[in-house]
Amino acid sequence: MPGRPMVSTGRLYIDGGWREGVAGERRAVIDPSTGTIVETVVDGGEADIDVAVTAARRAFDEGPWPRMSGRERARVLIRVAELVREHADELARLETLDVGKPITLSRVVDVNTVIEQYEYYAALAQTIDGSTRSISVPALAYTRREPIGVVGAITPFNFPLILSNSKIAPALAAGNTIVHKPAEDTPLSALRMAELFSAAGVPDGVLNVVTGGAVAGQALIRHPGVDKIAFTGSTPVGRSVASLAGEFLKPATIELGGKSAQLIFADADLDTAIGAAIQGFVFNTGQFCMGGTRLLVARELFDTVVEAVAGGAAGVPVGDPFEESTIVGPLGGERHLAKVEEYIQLARATNGVRIVTGGRRLDLGGGSYYAPTVITGMPNDSRLVQEEIFGPVLTVQPFDDEDEAVALANSTPFGLAAGLHTRDVARAHRVAARLAAGIVWVNGWALLDPAMPFGGYKQSGYGRENGPEGLHEYTQVKSVIVALT
Ligand code: NAD
Repeated sequence: MPGRPMVSTGRLYIDGGWREGVAGERRAVIDPSTGTIVETVVDGGEADIDVAVTAARRAFDEGPWPRMSGRERARVLIRVAELVREHADELARLETLDVGKPITLSRVVDVNTVIEQYEYYAALAQTIDGSTRSISVPALAYTRREPIGVVGAITPFNFPLILSNSKIAPALAAGNTIVHKPAEDTPLSALRMAELFSAAGVPDGVLNVVTGGAVAGQALIRHPGVDKIAFTGSTPVGRSVASLAGEFLKPATIELGGKSAQLIFADADLDTAIGAAIQGFVFNTGQFCMGGTRLLVARELFDTVVEAVAGGAAGVPVGDPFEESTIVGPLGGERHLAKVEEYIQLARATNGVRIVTGGRRLDLGGGSYYAPTVITGMPNDSRLVQEEIFGPVLTVQPFDDEDEAVALANSTPFGLAAGLHTRDVARAHRVAARLAAGIVWVNGWALLDPAMPFGGYKQSGYGRENGPEGLHEYTQVKSVIVALT
């Protein structure tokens, strides 16, 4: 097949080199666009986590990385950005092979974002400082921002590069060392990146990658040598990760699922709003934690918008992710497709629900393809509205006024993202303030930047990634008080 990359050695990256797994267990990595095995990797267990954490612990306790100045670390992070740029095509193709995401998306969004993450945190690495305080006794009182130690990073399948490096970049900038456990379905770019970190000058043991699933993840959280957990994944798994981290009193950032609402008011620029509505639920084949999967529309526009969004979605090119023209690739695999199908069966079985477009699997080259699907007529308490489907499925509901729009938008257990379309500046700010979500977009969707923090309200988790807030998650504050008498 043209343009498909060579894949990795399928071993673990620990202490600056490749290793076989201790138990010899392996796991297949499947190309979701064909259903074929492209690679096998180590199915890591407790013993592998122990070897990796020991290396990371030594690198933190005895190695140069935490002791280097922020400026020295920044030079290495800039070199990481340069190496990612030099290997952009290779990394993009690896991500597309592994996840099934369209190659243009891998190139323009995933790889470019990683470059920006390292450029951004290289700058912030040079700004990590404390402050002096006035206190009531004669003393020099100041704070220091110090690294936390060994970070255990556990990441999901849908944006492997971006969500791994949204943890690794700030953790490195702050002087921590890391054991990364990528998602079992999509570990390939993490293994390739491990070599690039070493080539950039990240010292041995500072960044270690152990592939595997829940067993490796749990071992990482429990390991006494790990000081902090950084997790992104589903809400049910996040709940058990948070409770295990809590049992061991480890600080954790927990980034979870979403069911984000996009509101179209009657005064909106309709072309922009309809484009954003389609983009909001087909982007990354709907496997986007911040997907705009609930569309709320002013009642007078409802029929017009439903027709335009469904028509547009039906025309989106679905197919081989290695084709430049493809906008929607396969879902991440059969497991993910089965979940989407279960929700569509529920839609068919629910009185009053209309599947306006889609609602079916697409038979394309043996891959896990699903047609972009638009649904109307479900009650607000339906599982179709309240639960994360994690596929290209949009529910559309009408509202009568601003209060009802906000109430519907805030009516799920999630609170990751929200958006609104209006030409009224006062309404834009008023509604943005009332939406219970970690990020709000006005007249656009999925506008993201390493400088802007994101994270959950409610069941979408806690902690923030990106921005100075994302850096502070990897530091702890020490107060020093020097008596002057
Ligand atoms: P998942 O929860 O199934 O897995 C996430 C990671 O946790 C994987 O590495 C997995 O191996 C590991 N894991 C599984 N069980 C574990 C356990 N018991 N202990 C420790 N680790 C365990 O999620 P997924 O299917 O890979 O990703 C999709 C989900 O992630 C969606 O719900 C999506 O909304 C969410 N997500 C959230 C964000 C965000 O920033 N909030 C971003 C992307 C994805």
